[in-house]
Amino acid sequence: MKRIIIHWTAGCYFPTTHEKNSYHFLIDKNGKIHNGKYKPEDNLNCTKGTYAMHTGGGNTDSIGIAICAMAGFKNRTNIGEYPITVKQFEAAMKYCAELCIKYNIDISPTTVMTHYEFGLKHPATTSAGKIDITFLPPYPWVTQKDVGSFIRTKIKWYKLKIQGEK
Ligand SMILES: [Zn+2]
Repeated sequence: MKRIIIHWTAGCYFPTTHEKNSYHFLIDKNGKIHNGKYKPEDNLNCTKGTYAMHTGGGNTDSIGIAICAMAGFKNRTNIGEYPITVKQFEAAMKYCAELCIKYNIDISPTTVMTHYEFGLKHPATTSAGKIDITFLPPYPWVTQKDVGSFIRTKIKWYKLKIQGEK
């Protein structure tokens, strides 16, 4: 696997069957990790239709991880009834660090990114204009353009912490 793409589901706090088809891993409100229908390795070959379709134009070799939240989100001042929780966000970051270790993935803007960042870099794909993740309810002072680097810094911190505990 070459990269991790991080999403929010724009749904409620627990994964639905449909959402499980779309992502490899989903994090619920309480920080519990749910496995999706497909394994990351199913995305090594995206020609057969049996893979997680999480990122239009970017599914091949990509792990898709989704935070179950953000239904009803309109903008930073109208965030809906399902804001990402602290527990959920931190659990997602820690799990991304574990995946980076397991799959030997660097933590850089081209290897660990949000769906939003992927869309910015690939404007000709259906990922263009995606807003996950442009706002972090637990850290509302992080600007839209800084969410990606904030996330990578968090994941790096968890990676060091995990490795330090070994
Ligand atoms: Zn997405």
